[in-house]
Amino acid sequence: MTKTCLIIVDGLRYDTALSDCGYLQAAVEAGHARLWQMQSELPTISAPLYETIHTGLPPVEHGIIGNEMIRPSNKPNLFSILKQAGRVTGSVAHCYYHTLYGGSSFDPFEHGEINDPDAPIPHARYYSMEGYCPENSAMPAEVDLCAQVWGIARDHAPDYLLFHTSSCDTLGHWFGGESSEYRIQASKVDIALARLVPRLREAGYEVFVTADHGINSDHHHAGDQPELRQVPFYVFSDLVDAPAGEVLDQKSIAPTVLKLLGVDLPDTMRAPTLC
Ligand SMILES: [Zn+2]
Repeated sequence: MTKTCLIIVDGLRYDTALSDCGYLQAAVEAGHARLWQMQSELPTISAPLYETIHTGLPPVEHGIIGNEMIRPSNKPNLFSILKQAGRVTGSVAHCYYHTLYGGSSFDPFEHGEINDPDAPIPHARYYSMEGYCPENSAMPAEVDLCAQVWGIARDHAPDYLLFHTSSCDTLGHWFGGESSEYRIQASKVDIALARLVPRLREAGYEVFVTADHGINSDHHHAGDQPELRQVPFYVFSDLVDAPAGEVLDQKSIAPTVLKLLGVDLPDTMRAPTLC
């Protein structure tokens, strides 16, 4: 049975992936992975694009246009569809994902760690980053997050496993998308992934590494600039393909995951699949 892990490196620009993600690029050079450029939907804002990635709908259609508008998803999404199909999901992600797909508003004392087969996402770990500011980024260590992802994969082997890490976005906000601080954090995420991705592959996971959006020299993301819309899509899988050099549609992720898992697509997922 095909299992899929989607890794979202929040705020990772395509050009920064090429220049600073030495492990991911080495995997491409060695033929272990393939890389396409993917185009983000608009606006290039986190919560709207988390929902786009999981529903296959653009923000103007799913209705979450800004982070301030975050609420539980009311469209067919990967977590709800897989639950309905009797499949198991897991996630290690920012607490926004609990608000979107976890079934209630986030309480760190109740929802930091979830192991409940009846929960909307049965195996979940969330970080809040509560109180984050330029003086204290409140970021979890990348390797600690990767270890949590591996723990869920090893112990529960969910059909769909989401890993979302925020640190590139955070340092991009403090220092800008052209800064050494942002680029070096991209490298640190990359090196942590080097310790996770091979384990996931050995455990039978198809693995994708992408981003929701990039970040610009104004320390910002929301609009329609190449550095905001161009994100990487690394594929560690022989089951997924697209013409070399094609710019992929971010709305293709959700239907592709469902097709890999052998689950019927809802009518709302209209973008072409990559398999
Ligand atoms: Zn984001």
